[in-house]
Order: sequence, then structure tokens, then C-alpha cells
Amino acid sequence: MTYEAAQNRYEITKTRRVGNSGLILPEISLGLWHNFGSVDDFETQKAILHRAFDLGVFHFDLANNYGPIPGSAETNFGQHLREGLGKYRDELIISTKAGYDMWPGPFGEWGSRKYLTASLDQSLKRMGLDYVDIFYSHRFDPNTPLEETMGALAKAVHDGKALYVGISSYSPADTARAKAILDELGVPLTIHQPRYSMFDRTPENGLFTELERINVGAIVFSPLAQGLLTDRYFKGVPVGSRASKEVFLHKNQVSEQYLENALALNEIAESRGQTLAQLALSWTLRHGIVSSALIGASSVAQLEGNLKAAGARTFTSQELEAIEPLAIHGLG
Ligand code: NDP
Repeated sequence: MTYEAAQNRYEITKTRRVGNSGLILPEISLGLWHNFGSVDDFETQKAILHRAFDLGVFHFDLANNYGPIPGSAETNFGQHLREGLGKYRDELIISTKAGYDMWPGPFGEWGSRKYLTASLDQSLKRMGLDYVDIFYSHRFDPNTPLEETMGALAKAVHDGKALYVGISSYSPADTARAKAILDELGVPLTIHQPRYSMFDRTPENGLFTELERINVGAIVFSPLAQGLLTDRYFKGVPVGSRASKEVFLHKNQVSEQYLENALALNEIAESRGQTLAQLALSWTLRHGIVSSALIGASSVAQLEGNLKAAGARTFTSQELEAIEPLAIHGLG
């Protein structure tokens, strides 16, 4: 059956403007880092993507290396576009990135103009696209002049291969430099993608302040601390969960201290009529500079539950005070 998107898709998930740009994102966006590779069930992927779009999630975040195998998330996403979502291309915000290890040799990672340019061409080919909406430098390269890395992002825009550019996991000082260089090149720095959750509060140490100062929006990744800020691990480590795979999340992270904090946070969530996942998402969205919380989901049920978070965003000062000692940096 051909996919027809829900008519009411823009009535469900709220949106936010990204900094002072024309880019607008759903408060919750979907990332394809996990669950969309060649090892993952194609029909489940399709069900998640279609449900997301039906619920107003029109931003899908990728990177050259997402899989496994690296590149396969983009290849699969291209197939999903061809099989249904693609007819809504003008409504979709699709991002990709280059920065991490992708192919052998000195130009298969980091921030050279050669790597970024070749990688974007490969990503476009895998997804079957003429352009992406956002192209990111995935990480700061200490050995390549920032002028060169930003020059490669600007070139992608000038060549019509990207509409907006972003940076991910850059320090506040490097963010300010990136912005200044891009301004000179006539291409605004539109968005920053840092990791942020109750268990990783790094952006509170200067990055959010810097982004506010330069009016650049943030989309925060792993807001559920890869599943730790949900009820996924309340009764142990389920088969098939991310922690069970021991690659990016490890069984030993489901520690006693973690469980104590997560269960206490869950009580606060319940008192607000939320799940822990919803609380964790609402908490990241309490910052005005955060345009979107970028989640992952391995099922439609997870996605649907998480999306309800965008509704209950405000916190009383008592709630924030109760959360503060439990939101411990480093637990994720
Ligand atoms: P999350 O913190 O949202 O973790 C997602 C995982 O948590 C899911 O795959 C699932 O794990 C579990 N989960 C989600 N919802 C629920 C729920 N309601 N109940 C129970 N478990 C749940 O984000 P990710 O770490 O996946 O990152 C999100 C996106 O951020 C990525 O896809 C990518 O686009 C981006 N990202 C960017 C990076 C960068 O360097 N710029 C780095 C990392 C991510 P399970 O598989 O166990 O079901």
C-alpha cells in the first residue's frame, strides 16, 4: 500500500524556530544512529518513520557512518524515501554529518575539505537526494584549520548540496570561532548539536550561554541517555536493548546508583503525570535555546510515548529543585 501521511500531522507535535534562522524544527526529532542499519528489520524502520511523520516529526537526523554497517542507515533511508516518505520531500528536514571514521586513509575522517566534500557526495548518493537540509561537521578537528572545515560547509551550501550548516560537539570557544568564520563566508552557522540530558550536563558549562549570545539554536542528542532515562532498565537489562549489545551503552552502566536516581526521577515524573522518558525530554526542552530534542526509538510504541513529552514542558521551581540532585552528570 502506498503511504499517505496523516492529514493532521502538523497539529500534534509543537515546533520551534532554530535561533534567528528560517529553520523550524519539531520539538522532538528522530535520529537514525541505531535501529536503521542493515542489521535492523526494514519493516519496523518503515513503521517508525511513517508514524513519526504522521505525528509531526518532520526532521530525520543521519550521519555518514550510521548503521551498522556504516552508511547503511542512509542507504535504508533512501529506500524509505523512494517507497513513500519521499513524496513529502519539501516538508522534510533531513540532516547528515561527516567527521568520524568512514573509509581508510587520511581523508576518511575528521575535518578536511576533501573528506567533508567527498562524504557529502556519498551521503547524497546513498539517500538518492540532490541536497540535504542540514550538513554538519560531526566533530572539531584539532589538526585542520577551522577555516578549511567551515569553508567546506560553506561550499556545500554554495554548491546547492546543503541548505543550512551546523556543528556538533564543538566547545563554546570553537563554536564562536566557527560562527565568525562562517559569517565572513556569508553562510550563517544555523545549528549546534551537543549531547545533553539529565545525565550529561556539559552544555550548561558555557555552550548554551554562548549559543544564546550568538543566537544559534541547539538540537540536543541522546536526551534519554540512550535509554537510561526511561523505564527500559528498571528490571534488569532486556535482551535486544542497547545496553545488552555492549557497544555504545554497557551493562555496568545500569548500576545501583543509576537505578536509585532513575527510580527517584520516575517518581517525580509520575507526580507530573509523565513517564520518566517524557520527563527527561521535557527537562531538556525547558531551555529556550534548545530547538529540538533528538531521540532514538527501536519501536513505534517508544516513539509514541516519547512524543507526548512535548505537551508538558513547564516545571515548577519545586520540581526543578527536586530533580537537581538526581540529574547527576556522568551517570549516562
Ligand atoms: P536517546 O537518548 O533517545 O536513546 C534512544 C534509545 O533509548 C532507543 O533506541 C531505545 O533503546 C531507548 N528508548 C527510547 N525511548 C524509549 C522508551 N519510551 N522506553 C524505553 N526505551 C526507550 O537517543 P540516541 O542515543 O539514540 O540518539 C538519538 C540521535 O541523536 C541519534 O539517532 C543521532 O541522530 C543523534 N546522535 C548524534 C551524535 C553526534 O555526535 N552528533 C551522537 C549520538 C547520537 P533500545 O534500543 O534499548 O530500545
